[in-house]
Amino acid sequence: MPLLSPLHQREFAREVLQRLRVAGYDAYWAGGCVRDHLMRRTPKDYDVATNALPDQVRDLFGRRRTVPVGAAFGVIMVVGPTGAGQVEVTTFRRDAAYSDGRHPDSVTFSSAEEDASRRDFTINGLFYDPVEDRVLDYVGGQADLAQGIIRAIGDPAERFAEDKLRMLRAVRFAATFDFHLDEATWTAIQRTADQISVVSPERIAAEMRRLLVETYRVRGLRLLVQARLAETVLPEILASEAAAKQGLERNLAVLGELRAPRFPSALAVLLSGLVDAGGAQSVGLRWRLSNKEIESLVWLVDHHQALRGARRQPRCRLFRVLAHADAANLSAMTSAAARAGQADPADAAWCLELLEDTREKFDPNPLLTGGDLLQRGWKAGPAFRHVLEAIRDAQLEGEIGSRDEALALAERLYTSFGENHARRAD
Ligand code: ATP
Ligand code: MG
Repeated sequence: MPLLSPLHQREFAREVLQRLRVAGYDAYWAGGCVRDHLMRRTPKDYDVATNALPDQVRDLFGRRRTVPVGAAFGVIMVVGPTGAGQVEVTTFRRDAAYSDGRHPDSVTFSSAEEDASRRDFTINGLFYDPVEDRVLDYVGGQADLAQGIIRAIGDPAERFAEDKLRMLRAVRFAATFDFHLDEATWTAIQRTADQISVVSPERIAAEMRRLLVETYRVRGLRLLVQARLAETVLPEILASEAAAKQGLERNLAVLGELRAPRFPSALAVLLSGLVDAGGAQSVGLRWRLSNKEIESLVWLVDHHQALRGARRQPRCRLFRVLAHADAANLSAMTSAAARAGQADPADAAWCLELLEDTREKFDPNPLLTGGDLLQRGWKAGPAFRHVLEAIRDAQLEGEIGSRDEALALAERLYTSFGENHARRAD
């Protein structure tokens, strides 16, 4: 995907809107991009809402530049020039009943006002005209934006009954903006939190993927627990025993100290000590993470203590950890633990320094390979691996530094292995 330029994206979103206007339609920026614009944040993408029907939108922008991503729901994607991304143009609509707890059964095209009221939260229900710099607010979104409140549009219980994912979105938005949940909205979530189970694991994961790396992620997680959404979404972090509760508190403290975390690292911090490698893997599988992400997650959870006390550890052990593909992430976790007062800052700093130094320091080219041993007439067998590992250990410990020293050590090791075998055979 070509890199997006925020300026081009924005310019294109204006163009789409103006083109609709010139053709005689009503059109506004709508939803998240308006919220972000008013908060002076850079919108990730732009949505335009209009009274033009999907076919009219396609006719106006041409079949080649439009993709009917959800024509039944009135959503047409208009593809912009390189770097400008795409704009979703959605016809004003009213949603019919929701019988699956997630999607409307059908939609009816309608007015801007009705379109605002089908949206989830007041801060997401605003329209904006970038040409005249004018906000269209049917739902009190501006006041809530100013006060930092996440409030469901209309009756919260009804809105969450329609689409259960909104409960998790509410918590995620609170974690993004450090906003408070309006009381009635919060009560409604608490009452029906267990129904989040009807939402697909992928959609849950998509929200959690964001929640866990948002600036106010710790707050978001506390809300997730308090709302009892965690009981369904991530029961692994809950336990009645005091020890486990303390464990969660410790992990939240570290999570808050991570800097610009990636999702697998954030999740690993959250789960460390509360689940073992197998438990981490089941979370990864349940959330349908990629194999690569699951591998990272499992390794990080499994090694979350591996850099503690680094300076006192045998180098052959420590350096092997540092040579792993996720070592930089583990080091970032350990630094965060140090900032949270749970690891020695000097250890964390030393690991960071090592990792930033040349790789040769902690992951030097092997002095000997299995091929070298085979060439010398040693047979592949149980002793073979042990000898190679022992030679690697000695190299990492700095006990040997040349190929000749390595060969001499191999010789000695083989002799002693041979003796052991001989003795056992007696
Ligand atoms: P972000 O893109 O930062 O996650 P967003 O508010 O743009 O935030 P989107 O999922 O892109 O979120 O949705 C765009 C808009 O569509 C929202 O602002 C909201 O108005 C509406 N919307 C999205 N999901 C729902 C939902 N589940 N129920 C009701 N309205 C929704
Ligand atoms: Mg969006």
